[in-house]
Amino acid sequence: MSFRSLEYYGSEILRKQSRELDCSTEQDFIEILINDMKRILYTENGLGLAAPQSGENVRLFILNPEELDLSGHSVFINPNIEISGTLIKDEEGCLSIPGIFELVKRPSNVSLTALDENGRSFSLELDEYTARAAQHEHDHLEGILFIDRLSPIRKRIIRKRLSEIKKEYRSGKRIL
Ligand SMILES: [Zn+2]
Repeated sequence: MSFRSLEYYGSEILRKQSRELDCSTEQDFIEILINDMKRILYTENGLGLAAPQSGENVRLFILNPEELDLSGHSVFINPNIEISGTLIKDEEGCLSIPGIFELVKRPSNVSLTALDENGRSFSLELDEYTARAAQHEHDHLEGILFIDRLSPIRKRIIRKRLSEIKKEYRSGKRIL
């Protein structure tokens, strides 16, 4: 049995817009996908993971409830986010872009509506790093990476590392 694995910078899947999921007809697909994503997230010690990072262009992300304040939730299907508050700068990284950590400006608050793993709708008000993580993962569903939100100067500084990751990814080598 083979499991899905982590997609890295350079993968075209990370740049595509993801489609909505149908919880009534795609139950089995969703259940296996969530299992694979949790395996990747916990193996990599991540805060969150979006479906495209595991090779599927569908609107689903998971967040790590041990690290973030999520009122018992961890699975977000067809999520909708509304941002508000002031812009705050904080450090972000991404499992798909190893070794790069940069300050990113994002709004401080998020109203999140989504379906859980059982297809039930729920809403959450998020702030602090949890609001940031939700925005980062939601970006993945639109094909946006956190490095897209950096200033031209910071982008230039990380350019070499990005091309290294892409080269290693394309050659199929393990990325460190
Ligand atoms: Zn990411």
